[in-house]
Amino acid sequence: MNNVKVHITGVVQGVGFRPFVYNLATSLNLKGWVKNTSAGVVIEADGEKDALDSFLQKLRDDAPPLSRIDDFHASFGPGNGFTQFDIIHSESVDGAFQPISPDVAICDDCLRELFDPNDRRYRYPFINCTNCGPRFTIIQDIPYDRPFTTMAGFPLCPDCEREYKDPTNRRFHAQPVACPVCGPKVWLETKDERGKKDGDEAIVEVQRLLTEGKIVAIKGLGGFHFACDATNAKAVTELRTRKLRVDKPFALMMPDIETIEQHCFVSEAEKELLTSSARPIVLLKKKPESTITEEASPRQDWLGVMLPYTPLHYLLFNNSLFTALVMTSGNLSEEPIATDNAEARERLATLADAFLMHDRDIHIRCEDSVVRVFEDNRKSSIENCKSIYPIRRSRGYSPFPVKLPFEVPQLLATGSELKNTFCITNGNYAFLSHHIGDMENYETLKSFEQGVEHFERLFRVKPVAIAHDMHPNYLATRYAFSRAERENLPMIAVQHHHAHIAACIAEHGLTEPVIGVSFDGTGYGDDGAIWGGEFLVADAKSYQRAAHLEYFPLPGGDAAIKKPARTALALLWSLGIEWDDSLDSVKEFCAEDQVTLRVQLEKKINTPMTSSMGRLFDAVSALAGVRQKVNYEGQAAIEFEAMADSAEAGQYVFGVESGRVRVGSAVEALIKDVMAGIPTSKISARFHNGLAEAARETVQKISSETSLRSVVLSGGVWQNITLLQKTISLLSKDGFEIYIHREVPTNDGGLSLGQAYIAASRLRG
Ligand code: ZN
Ligand code: ZN
Ligand code: FE
Repeated sequence: MNNVKVHITGVVQGVGFRPFVYNLATSLNLKGWVKNTSAGVVIEADGEKDALDSFLQKLRDDAPPLSRIDDFHASFGPGNGFTQFDIIHSESVDGAFQPISPDVAICDDCLRELFDPNDRRYRYPFINCTNCGPRFTIIQDIPYDRPFTTMAGFPLCPDCEREYKDPTNRRFHAQPVACPVCGPKVWLETKDERGKKDGDEAIVEVQRLLTEGKIVAIKGLGGFHFACDATNAKAVTELRTRKLRVDKPFALMMPDIETIEQHCFVSEAEKELLTSSARPIVLLKKKPESTITEEASPRQDWLGVMLPYTPLHYLLFNNSLFTALVMTSGNLSEEPIATDNAEARERLATLADAFLMHDRDIHIRCEDSVVRVFEDNRKSSIENCKSIYPIRRSRGYSPFPVKLPFEVPQLLATGSELKNTFCITNGNYAFLSHHIGDMENYETLKSFEQGVEHFERLFRVKPVAIAHDMHPNYLATRYAFSRAERENLPMIAVQHHHAHIAACIAEHGLTEPVIGVSFDGTGYGDDGAIWGGEFLVADAKSYQRAAHLEYFPLPGGDAAIKKPARTALALLWSLGIEWDDSLDSVKEFCAEDQVTLRVQLEKKINTPMTSSMGRLFDAVSALAGVRQKVNYEGQAAIEFEAMADSAEAGQYVFGVESGRVRVGSAVEALIKDVMAGIPTSKISARFHNGLAEAARETVQKISSETSLRSVVLSGGVWQNITLLQKTISLLSKDGFEIYIHREVPTNDGGLSLGQAYIAASRLRG
């Protein structure tokens, strides 16, 4: 008899790993045990040498689909004389940590049982098994075991307990396992006490309310959603009014791929993402014949669509009453999504007509993820799996770590102001948080602090330093300051665009310096100006600003984001182009306001200088007549992009000089086209074409001076797929190696990864 000791780390808990080990070991007639520890999975097995070899092989080859093995250690010794194979008690190892599985969409087996009248979980909204169900949002601590989850308050009934203890059962050691007898329940609350309904009746009533055009707050996996019928313009408009959300697209949920295909164009790669166990919202091109109300996604040519991912969602779509539901975050405007019942009742009272509640607590709030497919046509189809281009990385992905190329100290990076995520590191891992949101109010800051605390506990991190953005007034930066002071920790300030580029460097494990092109909205520059059209020569430690978009004044600073017309006039003023009354942007201002603005610009009153590409897009979109005011950041630019005529080959020529990209000639040509009545679709295309060419020329210039051949594209403006496509195609013709984000967002949602990586690299020396 021989014995083998195995230690496995990676995502190996909450994904059916111990049952898999148990079944594999018993099928090979091995004796011994398997257990979870807070450091991973540990196995000891006695058996014949051949059987043990085959065991080790199969552990790796046949591991459960949701698992990810990062490290695998096996050592042989003499047999221990075990007489049977057991799953033994989990053990907490001091200081040890390991990745935790994200929440997983309902699996096919559970879905079948959900609609099987003979199954004891028929129509039970919390059906789950080892292969599916909540994870991250219910875990309070590690190791991942029921007492450390929000399922602790639901003792198993005898039937569930039998399944939980039966190694041949799909629910063997499935921590959230439950049934109608012992598990969580749903109920409906309305303003009228008499409207209260329980269980299945509640679900049927919600369906009825939705068909009537009502707005229902529905408690889900990571928080509440507001739901309403997406084909009902009145309902959707009402939801906008109540939520104080103008124009910003709403996420949609559709029952199946066939329905999605009625409303949107869906490629193979998009289908794969839609049906993946993460079930993100995927941005899809809308079909002209779609019956989804325009109000769901005003003036945009795409829809954000996801498939149902919880049993409850499937029950809501049962009986084909809806082709699509709006499923948007249950919050007011930019506040964090509501997660517990009392909080929802209080905060959402005036927003929803009814509440579909349940009593399984959400330990950590986690909003839906948003992704799109960006297929890089230079690469062969085998790399199709890498077609994901994340916009918001949250439910289904977080807290799945990004693996770093080297071991790093324990760090906290506090991220950005908008679209905040934070990042903590331990070992070889960077744990990027779920989407926190825009850090502009107390509620969001509180959510951020709770998140940090939770991540530090889960992953056993006590930071030795804190990385933060250079902007002194970001709430995330201020948190870093006060925490560093309290705990006497060193702080590492990171320039915003360097962090963007470093996030992409970290993702791809690049070790040599790169030419980083960071086209972005807003970032604090090391000269105090607002940067955002940056060409950096950078590595993971430092950067040099090799070139940038020429500066122009931003009257009112970041407040200009809301008024592209203002930015447009400031741009014209700085380029010495007159304010022609026939331009829509000029018409926005009465004569008096024009004088005031001119004085403000001339006297430089509250007019920081900017090289922001996002603001340049705002300005030209306004000049092209797209819109003069916006209701959310980037709206003008997004609508401008949507108009671009893909067949148009013309372009506006930028002035590429050493260290500067001048915009005067391009803006002049654009205005000439506007005044000549050239269609906006052509103007948009010409601007995009010209800008891509300017990026190419600037990169070439830097490359000829530095001999660097790798180009990293990162920053929020690269969410503009038209610009991304054109720039990549030009740069790749010149033979550059191009890197874009595939794991974290190119916008500020990915920033904290870059901050953490830079801090780690600097501490490493
Ligand atoms: Zn399942
Ligand atoms: Zn039960
Ligand atoms: Fe940014």
